[in-house]
Amino acid sequence: MNKLAETLVPSYIQNLRPYSAGKPIEELAREKGLKKISKLASNENPLGPSPFAVREMTNGLWELNRYPDMHAYKLKKALSDLYKLKMENIILGSGSEGIMGMIAKTFLRPDQEILTSENTFIGFYILARAVGAKLKMVPLKNYKFDVKKMAEAIDDKIKIIYLANPNNPTGTFITKEEFDYLMDHVPDHVLVILDEAYFEFAQDDPTYPDSMNYRYDNVITLRTFSKAYGLAGVRIGYGFAHEDLIEQLTKVKLPFEPNLIAQLGACGALMDTPHLKRTLENNKKQFSRTFDFLQKKDFNPVPSVTNFICFKTGSSEASDWMNNHLLDLGVIIRALKSNEMPEYVRVSIGTPNEMNHFFEAMEKILPEYNKKFGRPTC
Ligand SMILES: *Cc1c(COP(=O)(O)O)cnc(C)c1O
Repeated sequence: MNKLAETLVPSYIQNLRPYSAGKPIEELAREKGLKKISKLASNENPLGPSPFAVREMTNGLWELNRYPDMHAYKLKKALSDLYKLKMENIILGSGSEGIMGMIAKTFLRPDQEILTSENTFIGFYILARAVGAKLKMVPLKNYKFDVKKMAEAIDDKIKIIYLANPNNPTGTFITKEEFDYLMDHVPDHVLVILDEAYFEFAQDDPTYPDSMNYRYDNVITLRTFSKAYGLAGVRIGYGFAHEDLIEQLTKVKLPFEPNLIAQLGACGALMDTPHLKRTLENNKKQFSRTFDFLQKKDFNPVPSVTNFICFKTGSSEASDWMNNHLLDLGVIIRALKSNEMPEYVRVSIGTPNEMNHFFEAMEKILPEYNKKFGRPTC
């Protein structure tokens, strides 16, 4: 390593493993000379962005010489109307990960501890490690956050608890009852990050604890425009919390973040309820087809309330083989090695055509796959 980097960069950054994203569509097309590619790897909206949001963003291009509204009044107003909250309780960032970064910067010092689970969102692990924080991780139980074990693991050193509900990459969620149980065990001086990136997909389940119905001074809820709202490409997310927390976070936020186009797109997307409805309907239909397909093929898919399904191959080799052979046929799924679940893969829900592409590709590779790997026994 370069001498300068070696001496000036803290060891916790030198040791950081960067986030690895799903393979970009163009890269795969180029590598394999493929025309038809279905990207089912990053839980994005397969219907595209809202046409209304696109129009708003397009019009905004002519304002690009100006900095955007620093307080993002319009978007905060729209969110505060929608969720019946004060604007002082809202923070915006470059993706919900941008806000996680602000939280890490504001609350954490090297060697302070965070409590979370194994096999949850890697983006958060990276942001926590990037400020030198230590992660204390409890295993999942039945693919879910184990609230009992988490409650037991809270000690004086824990500053922050991170929960993804629903969880990525498993798609499971903790119920109202489980959330209440955990909160009963969290001291007031510990901050809970409640990451609800897939809230829109889960909200109709009566046992899902929609955090808008709770008022805890030590909880920050994070949501995003990257998934159901179809704006992953502009990076914009939002958070709700007590105004004192929001005020502190705002100090470390990059000024004018999120950018103009992101603010305009998010406003447009929030207004376009028909697009959100189409998105959720498509997801429901294609989810059930995909779940049935995986069940029929004896993959025991993990029950999920999101726009993705995790299933077990049984080994790291089987996951890689499936992943690579699907890539050859133009289907991008996600092997979960970096989530420390190498014996699992995850497929995002796409359009009907994309799912047909996935089913056909699976039918093509399964005879050989079955001979080589069979099925895990549980
Ligand atoms: C995709 C995802 C996010 C995304 O965040 P953005 O930064 O808003 O794109 C956050 N949390 C989880 C659990 C996710 O899966």
